[in-house]
Amino acid sequence: NGAAEPPPRLVLDLERLQTVPSDQAGPLQRYAATIQSQRGDYNGKVLSIRQDDLRTLAVIYDQSPSVLTEQLIGWGVLNPEARRAVEHQSN
Ligand code: C2E
Ligand code: C2E
Ligand code: C2E
Repeated sequence: NGAAEPPPRLVLDLERLQTVPSDQAGPLQRYAATIQSQRGDYNGKVLSIRQDDLRTLAVIYDQSPSVLTEQLIGWGVLNPEARRAVEHQSN
């Protein structure tokens, strides 16, 4: 399977993220803010994150990566193509 396409990018909608109540989105809001700070990337409307970051967030939210992915897509903060990125991962 070496010629497979690369997995799709995981892209957070930062403006939308600010509209989700922080009792649900707080951990993700803090995680995204930390990545922005580490990169010095403060002006974007979106933030591309690592595949590994989704796994870390799944641990934080105590959910499987696929369930968390559906939740984030449902909030409108993650691009729907991210579903394919999760399918790529071996669990
Ligand atoms: P690091 O992981 O040691 O990465 C050092 C530098 O390598 C990064 O500096 C960036 O210029 C480049 N780099 C590493 N991986 C990638 C990648 O997948 N794509 C791209 N485009 N560049 C990459 P930068 O951006 O200033 O980040 C500094 C440090 O902040 C990183 O050190 C890492 O510890 C943390 N960081 C930044 N963004 C993320 C992220 O999305 N997730 C995680 N887990 N850590 C991040
Ligand atoms: P793309 O990945 O489809 O990103 C489209 C636009 O979304 C980017 O335009 C940028 O305005 C925004 N964007 C995406 N991820 C981030 C992010 O983590 N932080 C911020 N601040 N903005 C983000 P831009 O910058 O003109 O880039 C155009 C295209 O150039 C990108 O399309 C991508 O194909 C390529 N590109 C830019 N930076 C990188 C990179 O670090 N690594 C790779 N592989 N491609 C990059
Ligand atoms: P990208 O820059 O297009 O990188 C695509 C994939 O190439 C990354 O997927 C990673 O598997 C690999 N890659 C790119 N640069 C490096 C590197 O310096 N070291 C290593 N070990 N691998 C690298 P990944 O990790 O899922 O990241 C997805 C996207 O998230 C990246 O797309 C980039 O837009 C963003 N990103 C991730 N980490 C960083 C970072 O540390 N700094 C910045 N500025 N952007 C990052």
